[in-house]
Amino acid sequence: MSDSIYLDNNATTQPLDSVIEAMLSCLRTDYANPSSVHRFGQQVRHRVEQAREQVAALINAEPKEIIFTSCGTESINLAVRGTLAADPSKRHLVTSAVEHSAMHRLAAQLSHEGYTVDQIRVDQEGGLDLTELEARVNEGTALVSVMHANNETGVLFDVERICEIAAGRGVRVHVDAVQSAGKVPIDVKHLSVDLLSLSAHKMHGPKGVGALYVRRRTRLTPLTIGGRQERDIRPGTENVPAIVGFGVAAQEAASLLGDRIDSIRALRDRFETRVMDVVPIAHVIGAGAERVCNTSNIGFEKLQSEAILILLSERGICASAGAACSSGSLEPSHVLGAMGIDTVIAHGAIRFSFSRFTTESDIDRSVEVLAEVIERLSSAVPRHS
Ligand code: PLP
Repeated sequence: MSDSIYLDNNATTQPLDSVIEAMLSCLRTDYANPSSVHRFGQQVRHRVEQAREQVAALINAEPKEIIFTSCGTESINLAVRGTLAADPSKRHLVTSAVEHSAMHRLAAQLSHEGYTVDQIRVDQEGGLDLTELEARVNEGTALVSVMHANNETGVLFDVERICEIAAGRGVRVHVDAVQSAGKVPIDVKHLSVDLLSLSAHKMHGPKGVGALYVRRRTRLTPLTIGGRQERDIRPGTENVPAIVGFGVAAQEAASLLGDRIDSIRALRDRFETRVMDVVPIAHVIGAGAERVCNTSNIGFEKLQSEAILILLSERGICASAGAACSSGSLEPSHVLGAMGIDTVIAHGAIRFSFSRFTTESDIDRSVEVLAEVIERLSSAVPRHS
């Protein structure tokens, strides 16, 4: 889609050339099983361990604390279910009302299974109600599981404070850092977080590979029974090309933190300022909160997000309603609902998410097209009320 402008980087990102090269060399040359004892196997094992070091370095973890999985969703499930299974006496889980569906649906499933699940409220800007969190977490809580950056709005939770609150009561914390890793610095040692989920395809790596950081001495029961790989916690022959690609992506992401992040934020701010200038019915969601550099969720009053997305797509702009309207349903997302965003705005919410590949001219062209699309819909399409 070389003639398109891709503004859907929270859905997935373009793999870097260096990632593709590293993966190709694994597929072509380093195809042995890393568990084989022969030299060839050990050569491949070395590449897996190098990737583990690269991923660990991104979050200041020890390589041994990184478990490779098949995706962020699996990491989250392993963290939560693995913790609950490790101590069956504790049947209380605390999470937030705005989690990604990987956690949101797991929480619903767990409450169906008889666990007590508290979903902490957020305010209108998407910030977590820390007073409610403090009131809910107690000695009987098995785990606090919250996201770092919200996939729909980019709003960041104060995970440092959340970890402090939980630690004060001796409760473990899992952080879903799928949308924040590589966009904000993460230091697991400084945070004292116990478990943290990552996904390669959100940081210009391949799809179908994730990682779970498991702090030393954290008890976790494996969800899969079988082989002995990944310290018995996540058995199965490693997806070596994907793991190696993840390692390269993590290394590149670490080197991007700093100036490049600032330039992505400047592009995002330029986009929002211009949209607000030319589209009077636009509302930036979560604008008053601390957000990751690349995400802009804008609600267009009295319009429907599907209609906007279709017209944008016809004009070569790839954005997303996020989870704002799933499976063609007009229900606003649980995230915008939990924030108390007026449905008149939430129904017309579009998520634009930028990356290191986004240029100034992409921004200017997108604003131009968006203004035309909104103008056209505002005058021609029957409004949703
Ligand atoms: N958590 C968040 C915040 C996400 O945005 C996503 C993916 O969109 C996931 C978890 C799931 O990651 P994966 O696609 O690797 O399963």
